[in-house]
Amino acid sequence: MRLQAARYGSRILDGRIQKLDRCGAGFSARGHGNELRARAVLIATGVANRRPPIDDVLHAEALKLGRLRYCPVCDGYEITDQDVAVIGSDAHAAQECEFLRSFTDRVSLVLDGRTSLEERIAKHLASIGVRVIGGPAERFRLEANGLSLCCAPGRLCFEAVYPALGSRIHSELATGLGADVTKEGCIKVDSHQRTSVAGLYAAGDVVLGLDQISHAMGEAGVAATTIRNDLALVRQKFR
Ligand SMILES: Cc1cc2nc3c(=O)[nH]c(=O)nc-3n(C[C@H](O)[C@H](O)[C@H](O)COP(=O)(O)OP(=O)(O)OC[C@H]3O[C@@H](n4cnc5c(N)ncnc54)[C@H](O)[C@@H]3O)c2cc1C
Repeated sequence: MRLQAARYGSRILDGRIQKLDRCGAGFSARGHGNELRARAVLIATGVANRRPPIDDVLHAEALKLGRLRYCPVCDGYEITDQDVAVIGSDAHAAQECEFLRSFTDRVSLVLDGRTSLEERIAKHLASIGVRVIGGPAERFRLEANGLSLCCAPGRLCFEAVYPALGSRIHSELATGLGADVTKEGCIKVDSHQRTSVAGLYAAGDVVLGLDQISHAMGEAGVAATTIRNDLALVRQKFR
């Protein structure tokens, strides 16, 4: 993808943008000692899933082996008939259990210890055969047959573990310019990926959506076309 972008004249710069400001009719982006100017900006900064307490090396290894997973929509079918744990305590975690329940009848919810489970959610999980286990989940260890963790009943091993602890939405660059966001912090866009700030566009996971590569790329395609058309309109206006 980098090669293809370069072939069409794109410059790819590594580094983190710390601040985005208005600059005349456009924007200036600053970070790593650089300042970049642009007439339009597309924010595609994604999200970061909150992790349970696992050190980075074990996290990477468990992810590689498919023992730790973050996206039931992406890979739920791969855990068909496996013994699976979801970590979390809220409605989102319960929804994830319900989703995974269609692939396996061995789903446990390990409470994350920060909040308690609402009674109506607990009742619903019991009705669909999801076991609720006291948490918090800690002291993770890779075993020959899965990923084990310590929780209220002691050390338990699961063939796959899905943390459902929410995400940190990387929308600060847009909110710094006053762009509207949802209560979760996702950037609000119109059907052409325009944010509430003129000249600022957003696509991918940072926008409320499916958190799927195909969806993110589709939104990027819509955004790129809109940016091209909006810039052409601006140029016509000043002719
Ligand atoms: C473990 C896991 C497995 C997944 N499996 C699948 C799968 O099988 N199929 C599927 O379709 N989807 C899968 N997904 C979801 C998929 O990865 C996302 O939907 C997709 O990557 C979203 O693309 P994006 O460009 O919006 O964000 P990202 O891919 O997250 O890219 C955002 C980029 O912006 C950078 N960034 C953030 N802030 C700044 C800043 N201030 N300055 C500069 N750069 C910044 C980040 O470092 C990152 O590189 C998975 C996700 C995870 C976590």
